[in-house]
Amino acid sequence: MDRAARDALRLIPSIDRLLAHPLIEELSHAYGRAPVVEALRAVTDAMRAGVLGGDGRALIEAGDVTVLVRERAEQRLREGARMSLRPAINATGVVLHTGLGRAVLAERAVLAVDAVARAHSVLEIDVATGERGSRQAHVRALLRELTGCEEALVVNNNAAAVLLAIATIATGGEVVIARGQLVEIGGAFRIPDVIRQSGARLVEVGATNKVRASDYERALTPETALLLRVHPSNFRIVGFTEEVPLPEMAALGRRLGLPVMDDLGSGALIDLTRYGLVAEPTVQESVRAGADVVTFSGDKLLGGPQCGLILGRKDLLERMSAHPLMRAFRVDKMTMAALEATLRLYRDEPTAIREIPTLRHLTVSRHELAARAAHLADALQGDGLRVTLETGQSQVGGGALPGEELPTTLVRLQPAAESAADLARRLRAHEPPIFTRVRQDSVWIDVRTVSDDEVAILIEALRG
Ligand SMILES: *Cc1c(COP(=O)(O)O)cnc(C)c1O
Repeated sequence: MDRAARDALRLIPSIDRLLAHPLIEELSHAYGRAPVVEALRAVTDAMRAGVLGGDGRALIEAGDVTVLVRERAEQRLREGARMSLRPAINATGVVLHTGLGRAVLAERAVLAVDAVARAHSVLEIDVATGERGSRQAHVRALLRELTGCEEALVVNNNAAAVLLAIATIATGGEVVIARGQLVEIGGAFRIPDVIRQSGARLVEVGATNKVRASDYERALTPETALLLRVHPSNFRIVGFTEEVPLPEMAALGRRLGLPVMDDLGSGALIDLTRYGLVAEPTVQESVRAGADVVTFSGDKLLGGPQCGLILGRKDLLERMSAHPLMRAFRVDKMTMAALEATLRLYRDEPTAIREIPTLRHLTVSRHELAARAAHLADALQGDGLRVTLETGQSQVGGGALPGEELPTTLVRLQPAAESAADLARRLRAHEPPIFTRVRQDSVWIDVRTVSDDEVAILIEALRG
């Protein structure tokens, strides 16, 4: 060991000396003594290793070592105290980004969660009688009012809804479904696997692009238990196609005495064509068409918490409630509170569009997007970045409205002194983390999914 290294090692104070220093005492007050001791040990060990690795001189030149130790220890403590699951800024423009938590809740829903999380609640108590009630009661009447359904049931997600419904209705029997509807949704959820898992047998009918009522009829056997329709919610087959309209399928089911189930996937409660989006079947249409069971997600186009909604015939849903899987799939009070608050907003369509972030992000005007992008671009000019505005497309994401083109204005950032990938990495390392799109050696910001408050954070992060 050379002399510089020996001198440098002597500069690193002992843990006891550090703990007695006023600068470190402050840290102990903020974070607690044990975490501070742990952080000091890690920081001083790393410093010693650095000196032995040859950068003793750097430490000697760094000035007051205690100040340096405090800085590094505080950084460690701050990172250790930070929540792993925390908010992020979605500057990708993907409205329902599964990686970024899908639907952002409406303020009312957030307040409703907060209220039932902080206190006891009437989750399963009938207030009038004091007797045990059902957690489902909090949304049943609302769902009847909004959709015209006979009965409603909420479970943990739509995958659970589909599994519970098929397991209840068709275990040991056959489920008839069109070949073009054997879809896979995000990773491991494939309709054929779900049918198998529920203990039913899959009977495919028709061709990939075409299916007719006669195909279903020919496939019937004494074992047939369910006619299933699955909305191809994350892809489109275009061209020479044909499927059996739901009212016709429902009529067929009634004639044959077989239940008809419609898995909608995204489950819009509002006709989004009124806002210039492509047609997505609404929940009300499926109920009206006479489907015996309708299933959809709470956190796709509905814009609520993660959950699965099952609407339909009372006798079938009562059997689902009594199924052993129901206990495994039931939702907690926070989900119920968020769902009830979200559904209440749908009582008035303009309120829903204004207050539910998913709907607001989908329907925001091109004019407003252009103005928000221009504001951001102006604020960023001249900071070692080439900043330009370009028109582009946002995606809906989350397996909803496939092929939907949502015109938007993108802010294109071309950094002068680093690659776009490096800039994107720095933005992800920011607190809160910022997610963007990277292509053509540029970072692209789509302001569709960025609130005004978040625009201010973006500006600060990019200037820094
Ligand atoms: C998304 C989707 C599901 C699964 O819903 P989750 O809420 O993600 O579990 C099932 N079926 C269809 C058609 C879907 O689009």
